[in-house]
Amino acid sequence: MLTQIARTDHEPAAKEAVNRAVLHLRQGDVVALPTETVYGLGADALDPVAVAKVFEAKERPAFDPLIVHLPHRKWLTQVATIPAGLEEVIARLTETFWPGPLTLVLPKTDRVPDIVTSGLPTVAVRVSNHPIFKRIVKELDRPIAAPSANRFGRMSPTSAAAVQEELQGRIPLIVDGGACSCGLESTIIRLEPASPKPRIHILRAGPVTADHLKPFGKIAKERRNESVEANAPEAPGMLQSHYAPGKPLRLLDSPAAFRPEPGLRYGLLSYRGEEEDGYLDLAPWTQVAVLSPGSGKLPEAGVRFFHLLRQLDRAGDVDEIIAEPVPDRGVGAAIMDRLRKASASRPQSY
Ligand code: AMP
Ligand code: MG
Repeated sequence: MLTQIARTDHEPAAKEAVNRAVLHLRQGDVVALPTETVYGLGADALDPVAVAKVFEAKERPAFDPLIVHLPHRKWLTQVATIPAGLEEVIARLTETFWPGPLTLVLPKTDRVPDIVTSGLPTVAVRVSNHPIFKRIVKELDRPIAAPSANRFGRMSPTSAAAVQEELQGRIPLIVDGGACSCGLESTIIRLEPASPKPRIHILRAGPVTADHLKPFGKIAKERRNESVEANAPEAPGMLQSHYAPGKPLRLLDSPAAFRPEPGLRYGLLSYRGEEEDGYLDLAPWTQVAVLSPGSGKLPEAGVRFFHLLRQLDRAGDVDEIIAEPVPDRGVGAAIMDRLRKASASRPQSY
């Protein structure tokens, strides 16, 4: 299959790209679409045959459910039911964060085919704020099921070029909407009625942080290994090994944790690229990629994370990627989650 790339950087082209994407989606094809988080591989969420093509193109196992992107907040009750006691918090959350990178897991309605949710009784929903995605989903006037546009288990793509690396020849169209403005997958939450405040379970850390969510409820503490991410039946998709580059990646706790092996060439994924952090002179790095040079800004690190990880993965002179930890707060919690999962994806022989 020939994979075409549709540009959107000037108006006549953007309009044509939107029309082409909508045409493909109406025909039941899958297309790669830009969102503010990462690029998604989209299909008409109400068409089970189209959704099956997403699983096929990604080589995604059928037990890993997809996120449903709505044309508008008003669509929510078409695909999900609002549990008693959560009406107010859901209204406030969606008013505040939609369109944006917050995904809610709610009981699904019959309109959502089982293949979208991998047979779960719940559906993950959000509204994207990417200008091109918004135009496409509004024009289609149906929800779009879209997981990240990478092959299963690999790094999420944050540019059209990265989607090409992942899915060239497997899909008809990539809509190029530029670099993603968040660069990390959406925050996923589940809500539980409780008094005096509902409980918020963060199933996947992301651009909307625990601090952002605190005013809306009590953030439930889930110990990492017992969380839903540890393959509990509630969210079988949240596997611990994920987001992996092709090369081994090791996340360090501290500079002292690193003993290079002779003959191996190491690339460093650094947080700030500052000598005083103690990582720069640990080894004769063949490559150093810096997430947020200088003062270290976590949102900037988030935007660049997958892009730089891909760069190190591609580099001909790197055998192994060594990652510095970033501060485990705010967007940093989402980056650390991805780094832990990427490093868990490999046999740890250190
Ligand atoms: P992706 O967009 O590729 O990151 O994939 C979507 C992710 O959303 C899945 O891997 C799951 O972790 C999560 N997800 C989707 N639907 C549900 C659901 N009903 N319950 C819990 N998690 C979900
Ligand atoms: Mg994914």
